[in-house]
Amino acid sequence: MAESSYDCVVIGSGPGGYVAAIRAAQLGMSTAVVERDRVGGRCLNYACIPAKAVLRSADVLSEVREAGDFGIRVAEPEVDFATVAARREKVISTLTGGVSGLFKKGNIEVLEGHGALTGRGSVRVGEDGEVSAGAIVLATGSVKLPIPGVEFSERVLGTEEVWALSEAPARIAVVGAGASGAEIASAYARLGTEVMLFEALDRVLPSEDADISKVAERQLGRQGIAVHTSTLVSDVTAQKKSVKFSFGEETAEVDYLVIAAGRAPDVEGLGLSETGVELDDGGQVRADGAQRTSARGVYAIGDLVAGPALAHKASDEGIIAVEDAVGMRTHPLAYIDIPRATFCQPMVASFGLTEAQARDQGHDVAVGKVSYGAVGAGIVYGDRSGLIKIVGERRYGELLGGHIVGSKATELIQELVNVRALEGGFSEVARSVHGHPTLSEAVMEAARAADGWLMHG
Ligand SMILES: Cc1cc2nc3c(=O)[nH]c(=O)nc-3n(C[C@H](O)[C@H](O)[C@H](O)COP(=O)(O)OP(=O)(O)OC[C@H]3O[C@@H](n4cnc5c(N)ncnc54)[C@H](O)[C@@H]3O)c2cc1C
Repeated sequence: MAESSYDCVVIGSGPGGYVAAIRAAQLGMSTAVVERDRVGGRCLNYACIPAKAVLRSADVLSEVREAGDFGIRVAEPEVDFATVAARREKVISTLTGGVSGLFKKGNIEVLEGHGALTGRGSVRVGEDGEVSAGAIVLATGSVKLPIPGVEFSERVLGTEEVWALSEAPARIAVVGAGASGAEIASAYARLGTEVMLFEALDRVLPSEDADISKVAERQLGRQGIAVHTSTLVSDVTAQKKSVKFSFGEETAEVDYLVIAAGRAPDVEGLGLSETGVELDDGGQVRADGAQRTSARGVYAIGDLVAGPALAHKASDEGIIAVEDAVGMRTHPLAYIDIPRATFCQPMVASFGLTEAQARDQGHDVAVGKVSYGAVGAGIVYGDRSGLIKIVGERRYGELLGGHIVGSKATELIQELVNVRALEGGFSEVARSVHGHPTLSEAVMEAARAADGWLMHG
């Protein structure tokens, strides 16, 4: 028997689940969120937010180190990692406290405990609680994956654990130079840790455009990171205070080996197979464009389902799911329109197709490439090496992809995403008036380059 009843019950309170719950409440649904750990999910508590807080400290240190170039003489800065960690925790608690506040404001109840489907239009909470639900949104996220033959331990860490350290380690090795691995390497190397970064493929950030990876790799190397591409790590042996491993013909010993090489949907104990919720071939929950699963009234969003594993994608799917639940007309999320951001130094941001992908798909490709040094702001602010690359379809000027490496890349990418969403193309970006001197002028110049009339550069 259900103890109580809600119009909407969300399982998981990460950026997918908490946004779904707030939107559901806004739409007039009585709403509860089932969370077995901490409000805010992995993103706010262990992943995106702690990572960005520590990276911010590394960025401040980098700026202080470069102050001399701007005529500001400072003594050699020192890293006080205890304060870095304390600030990280404060940032987390401020944001998760904000989510709890929004829950209160929306009369959203938090039910503590493990949530699972019962198949009776209700959710089991913990051992013996049960609440009935008009709509159920599964938002349980994803869990870390080891590499073959290696187990996580006190010395072999996942990405969440390395961002939670209370002391900066002397030496780490990071396996996987995707977004997460590059962020870890770039933060810790600048904060004084000796870092080895391993990637099985032939370049760092292998899912980014090759031109962007090249700039990023060069700059990561300048931070003292030993980058090993096309290299597999093997024979990992964790000891009490260190980890030994092999790569190529060599061996190494570090304080921690960090595995940043993939995640899997968190479906354990959710009662999916018993209640008719199907998985796709990749083991993720199968959902349609309105986030409906194969079980009536049950939705799935975020890292649990296909598509890029990103917080903002999870949030948008949460909105789609609950809007569908109240009968609103929704549109499926187009993955091409989702911005991707990596907060290493240099920052990297992109959306859509790389040049190689666009060519493989048979587009008549127009490319516009401009370095930050081509515009006033790049020189004024001291970042000449940044690069903007626009990949377009020549025929109609469609924006197929945007790729940026350099200062504020993660903010600059949004202009291209928005123009595309509003059905504009690179010609519209090229002819929009941009403020001066701003880095966004480099975005405009890259669009002009794609349009065949580059002016600066
Ligand atoms: C180190 C790291 C850094 C990242 N940085 C970024 C970034 O900068 N930007 C970005 O967009 N993305 C980033 N990501 C990805 C991002 O964290 C995920 O895409 C996002 O958290 C997915 O949100 P979610 O709501 O699906 O799930 P999660 O944030 O994983 O939250 C799921 C919640 O569900 C709870 N839960 C699970 N099972 C149950 C159950 N049965 N009952 C009750 N509760 C349950 C969990 O305790 C958790 O709180 C990063 C990921 C990592 C690992």
